[in-house]
Amino acid sequence: MNNEIKKYESLMGKGEINEIISLAKELGPVKIQNINSTKQGGGVAELLISTIPLFQNLGFDVSWDVISGNHSFFEITKKFHNILHGIHIPINPQIRKKYEKNVKANYEIISDDADFIIIHDPQPLPLIMKRKDNGTKWIWRCHIDVTEGDKRLIGYLRQFIDRYDCSVYHLPNYTFSSFHDEYIIQPAIDAFTDKNRDLSDKEINKELDRYEIDPEIPIVLQVSRFDKLKNPLGVIKAFQKVRDVGVSAQLILAGGEADDDPEGDKVLERVEKKAQKNPDIHILKSPPDIAVNALQRSASVIVQRSIREGFGLVVTEAMFKGKAVVGSNVGGIRKQIIHGESGFLVETDEGTAYRIQQLLTNPELNEKLGEEARKTVIKNFLMPNLVKNWILLFLSLKHDGRKGAVRLGMSE
Ligand code: UDP
Repeated sequence: MNNEIKKYESLMGKGEINEIISLAKELGPVKIQNINSTKQGGGVAELLISTIPLFQNLGFDVSWDVISGNHSFFEITKKFHNILHGIHIPINPQIRKKYEKNVKANYEIISDDADFIIIHDPQPLPLIMKRKDNGTKWIWRCHIDVTEGDKRLIGYLRQFIDRYDCSVYHLPNYTFSSFHDEYIIQPAIDAFTDKNRDLSDKEINKELDRYEIDPEIPIVLQVSRFDKLKNPLGVIKAFQKVRDVGVSAQLILAGGEADDDPEGDKVLERVEKKAQKNPDIHILKSPPDIAVNALQRSASVIVQRSIREGFGLVVTEAMFKGKAVVGSNVGGIRKQIIHGESGFLVETDEGTAYRIQQLLTNPELNEKLGEEARKTVIKNFLMPNLVKNWILLFLSLKHDGRKGAVRLGMSE
């Protein structure tokens, strides 16, 4: 019993893990249903894949369901996603109707007897309209940075959000200012999956061979879905500047697609076109987790040049592997990297190129920042932290009026 969480004792200490186990006992055998819009691709799926076994191992009955939708539904929700990230796109009442109608067609997936239903992100948000008076607590879990989002769309979504018992965000400034309680729970990574576990040199070399990557040439890496907001073209620009000053390196852009993102193909096409002219750039499509792990461990510099970023689990993964990340000064990236101490935060292509070059040519600095990066993740962003915060939230909802007694989230 509790074997999964106990694996973390070696990284986080026995005391911390025992505390989580006793909080789980206090909560008792609750039933939890998660609902989102994709089983694979992106950070939400990644979080659920890792969280669910841990919760189950702590004795909870946890399920994960996915809403279905046609291409036009996911085009609409991708539009919402872009608008919430500050991109201007008009939305008319028909679009809203289509969105609500599609979600309505998914009502049958709602569990009748869950203690807690967690709805992830805006795609399945209107499911709350089917809420029954059966004691289930409904939680909306928002994974995105809406600080630049269009107020009209935010206002429209609030009519659904306000019906939930509470909502949960990555960072304090991401909240929707709803009428109910809003909590902060920062994401986390699983240290023991193929994506993050220690790899032997043999395993790493096997993955590099598979993609015909020459390990003798320093690797600059970005792992991300092919999405405009992940800015792969900006990475290419910065990399070219590094090569222009004669620093030896190869760029790897590794990326998969998410089922709920209809724009991926177009972005990938553009990236491939740009990369065609440059033999130092490799595009790897949908590498398996062990390959992502091997690439992150072999990279000399890891870049995350996002225009917007909810949290950026991929940055956490890289930092956990002792890598100094050059990340855009946005969203969750700026919460993870302390500039000059555990990586670099950048604003421009020139700045990105400068920091990549600095890390490629100064291995001591690179190693020092990487060590700090790993410590930051072990302290703040491993799965038991997240599990603990969720259990505290469930406890506070279970005991309703005593919410104030429970402190949630990591200190700023
Ligand atoms: N990822 C992956 N393969 C890819 C691209 C991304 O496994 O080709 C994973 C990545 O390792 C991370 C997640 O997808 O775990 C992306 O999460 P993040 O929060 O960085 O971004 P999101 O895609 O949710 O915006």
